[in-house]
Amino acid sequence: MQIDDQKILKPNNLTLITGCMFSGKTTLLIQIINEIAKYSREKYEVFTANPTLVSKEDICLQTHGGVTFPAKTVVNIEDIQQYLHKDIEYLIIDEVQFLSHAVIEYLVDQIQKQDISVIVGGLSLDFRKLPFGSVHLLSARADVIVKLQARCSICNGPAHFTQRISGDRIPNIHEPVLDVGGVDKYTARCYKHHQISGLSHDKNASEKKIEVIDHLISIRSIAKTAMNYGASQDPHKLLYELERYSYIYKLVNECLSQVVSIDSETVFELDEQLSFDDTYVTPKIATAYAVYDDLDRVLLVKRKDLNVWALPGGWADVDTNAIGNAVRELSQETGVNALQHRFVGVFDVRKYQLSESHRDATPIYLLVFCGRTTSIEPIPNYSEVSNARFFSLDSLPKLSAGVQIQIVHSYKVLNGEYALFD
Ligand SMILES: [Zn+2]
Repeated sequence: MQIDDQKILKPNNLTLITGCMFSGKTTLLIQIINEIAKYSREKYEVFTANPTLVSKEDICLQTHGGVTFPAKTVVNIEDIQQYLHKDIEYLIIDEVQFLSHAVIEYLVDQIQKQDISVIVGGLSLDFRKLPFGSVHLLSARADVIVKLQARCSICNGPAHFTQRISGDRIPNIHEPVLDVGGVDKYTARCYKHHQISGLSHDKNASEKKIEVIDHLISIRSIAKTAMNYGASQDPHKLLYELERYSYIYKLVNECLSQVVSIDSETVFELDEQLSFDDTYVTPKIATAYAVYDDLDRVLLVKRKDLNVWALPGGWADVDTNAIGNAVRELSQETGVNALQHRFVGVFDVRKYQLSESHRDATPIYLLVFCGRTTSIEPIPNYSEVSNARFFSLDSLPKLSAGVQIQIVHSYKVLNGEYALFD
């Protein structure tokens, strides 16, 4: 492994040497220390953060090949503080994944204050392939990152992961992370050969936490963007905002499901029910169209459900404006296109519903439009209606409740009358 000495050894620098077990982190660290020792006698201190080293003889940097280098232990800020005399130039710390965030922030602070260079080595991921301790914080803080790789114990290919060995058993994600050992307990594996059980079905707490943090960071940045563009009246920008808010909605639901340990589908369902109760209840909107031919005959459709005649129409879809809905229903049910649209009126459908059972039905505002067509023969769409044809106003068939007034008034509007609001 070639390293850029110039970069690593200059002052005010934080270098992280990381990788999986058996990737040569400590070997490289010892090489660097020997380099420093050549011209910087006495001006460096070597530490290990390995919490399992107890006896004095054990406290040293040690490679898996058996090479050692004397060191001091470091657990907290005080352990470092006492060595930060004015002549110190380099701090070297191995097994840095065991240090707390506070110690790392302190080190970063000292790099600036004391003109020192800090070189640390540590595991990037634990045996579960999750960031080990404080190493992800160091990755963010480091000026130089040297990422080493080992050889996979199965295929000899590049290995990025530490495989815990538990006999013939695949290690489980719920096992304790801290179980210090060497070749007796661990080996290096590639993407293909690394094994861990209990991953996808049952995420552990730290995985959930990482997912929630990731989502919250995304939500924060989306909210920030939405705040910047929030005042916009530009329809294109508003569309982007809708997309952003939909994404926030999805992420927040996923966070909720992580926190309360129920699946996200259930959270979405619960939320749907809640939002129904929260929302102000209003009448539903339907549209209808009264289209007239050259002989002033009106086009009616025979409803499949009630076997009576009515104006072509139906529920308004959210993606189209009111007249767009009316024209589309007309065309879908009868194959007829209309011209010279006029607004006939707003009809409160409950007023015309005769039976008691209908009175309990959803309140509906029916928006009726009228116009002309040059079509001679309608083509009924039998999946929606059982018939479609033109009728003279003096020989109308059996009509659905309330349709009579819609037709009568539509003919008046066609001849200059104002819209009707019943
Ligand atoms: Zn492999």
